[in-house]
Amino acid sequence: MTQGLLYVISAPSGAGKTSLVNALCAGAPDLAVSVSHTTRPRRPGEVPGQDYWFVEKTEFEQMIANKAFLEYARVFDNYYGTARATVEKMLAAGLDAVLEIDWQGARQVRQLMPACVSIFILPPSRETLEQRLRCRQQDSDAVIARRMEAAISEMAHYAEYDYLIVNDDFNLALNQLRAIVQTQRLTVQRQAPRLERLIASLLG
Ligand code: GDP
Ligand code: ADP
Ligand code: 5GP
Repeated sequence: MTQGLLYVISAPSGAGKTSLVNALCAGAPDLAVSVSHTTRPRRPGEVPGQDYWFVEKTEFEQMIANKAFLEYARVFDNYYGTARATVEKMLAAGLDAVLEIDWQGARQVRQLMPACVSIFILPPSRETLEQRLRCRQQDSDAVIARRMEAAISEMAHYAEYDYLIVNDDFNLALNQLRAIVQTQRLTVQRQAPRLERLIASLLG
C-alpha cells in the first residue's frame, strides 16, 4: 500500500481553515484530519476527540518529555501539538492526513517530513477576518483582539508554504483546495502503483 500524504494547512485564526478542511474531508474517505492536543479551554460545542484532545498543561508537558509529539508550539498562551502516533497510524493505513497547525508547527513538520504539502489560507481583508472571528461568537473581545494581533504575524509566514488560497467565496476556495489534493494524487509516483496492471497490459 502506498503511504498516505501529509497536508499542512495554516491560516490566521478566523480565516476559515477549519470550515474548509471539514468540507474537504467530508467528501473524501481517504483524507482525514489529525486531531490535535491542546491546553486551551474547550469552546461551547467543541467535542473532545473530534475538535481537539483537551488536556491539562502538566499532561501536555509530560507528552513533550515522552517525545509523543511530531510537533508542538505555544499559540495564544496555550500549547497545541500533533501526536506522532495519530499521524503515523493514518499514513501507515494509506490515509492522507491533514494537519491544521500554526506556522511554527508547519516549520517543524517540513523539516521532519519534506514530502509534505503545505497550504496557507488568507482572508480577503483584515476587516473580514475580524468580522468572522466575531460572527463565530466563541471568543471574548479580549481574545478576539489578541487573535487579530497574532493574525498579522501568522500571515507574515505565507511565503514558506507551497500553495496560497484566499478564502473569500467559500466554494471557490474549497474547489481550489480540492484541486491541490487531486493534483498530488495524480503524480506518477502515486499513480504508478495503482495503475500497475493497466501499465503492464499496455506495455505488453
Ligand atoms: P482557530 O484557529 O480559531 O480555530 O483557533 P484554535 O484555538 O483552534 O487554534 C489556534 C491556533 O493554533 C491556530 O493557528 C492553529 O493553526 C494552531 N494549532 C491548532 N492545532 C495545532 C497543532 O497541533 N500544532 C500547532 N503547532 N498549532 C496548532
Ligand atoms: P479558523 O478555523 O481558521 O479559525 P473557521 O473555519 O472557524 O476559521 O471560520 C471562522 C468563521 O468564518 C466561521 O464562523 C465560518 O463559518 C466563517 N467563514 C469561513 N469561511 C467563510 C467564507 N468564505 N465566507 C464567509 N464566512 C466564512
Ligand atoms: P493518540 O492521538 O494519542 O495517538 O490517540 C489517542 C486515541 O485517539 C486513540 O484511541 C485513537 O484511535 C484516537 N484517535 C486518533 N486519531 C483520531 C481522529 O482523527 N479522530 C478521532 N475521533 N479519534 C482519533
